[in-house]
Amino acid sequence: MNVSRLLITIDGPAGSGKSTTAREVARVLGLAHLDSGALYRALTLALLRTGTPEEEWEGLEAGTLEDLDIALEPREGGFEVLLEGESVGPELRSFEVTRGVSRLAGVAAVRRRLIDLQRSVAEEVGIVADGRDMGTVIFPHAHLKVFLTASLAERARRRLLQEARPADPAGVREEIERIRQRDEADAGREIAPLRRPPDAIEIDTTSLTFEEQVGRIVLEARRRVAEGLTGEDCAG
Ligand code: C5P
Repeated sequence: MNVSRLLITIDGPAGSGKSTTAREVARVLGLAHLDSGALYRALTLALLRTGTPEEEWEGLEAGTLEDLDIALEPREGGFEVLLEGESVGPELRSFEVTRGVSRLAGVAAVRRRLIDLQRSVAEEVGIVADGRDMGTVIFPHAHLKVFLTASLAERARRRLLQEARPADPAGVREEIERIRQRDEADAGREIAPLRRPPDAIEIDTTSLTFEEQVGRIVLEARRRVAEGLTGEDCAG
């Protein structure tokens, strides 16, 4: 197994640093980063734009979801999500999208809509994929599975800093509540709930530096390649 064909999954709760970590691990190892959360966010944005009331999301049918034009375009370092052929940018992380995304992500037809799209990008290149069900549902045969955690307070603090919002005690308390609600929705849903894959290595990043957490994953990936512990074809 060649490093360039590695498939690595990084799952974990909201604000655990999955995306930034996955992007850096991909860069160091020369792989492509797949941010699966961006796909759920893009679908949420598409529905908000069409004005579909949230109460109707549960009943969305496959045909309606297929009509939403969403694609992954290869870019330096990974993929960009395109909606109707256009880049979406910061709107993906807007308050409205973040508030609605977990509700939409719990809908079975929505998850089915995104399965092939996610798997298809791993057919051609090595991937570091981050999300909630990467190691459990989308890529169960990944060469290396990681589950990232951090304390709630630390995750709230990091998210506020990342988004340049005030990390004062009141701000942290509010963010803790928002993150807690999203974790509950993601871990409590029936389909593809947030779970630590049984064969994942768990890394608690609460008191690790960014470099340390990236370093651990890179080291483990290289060790697996060196020891030939990895499987052959793992895209499905
Ligand atoms: O990772 P991010 O915060 O961008 O994910 C946004 C939301 O998308 C999550 O809270 C979750 O509801 C959903 N999601 C998911 N499965 C994934 C990735 C994200 O359900 N693989």
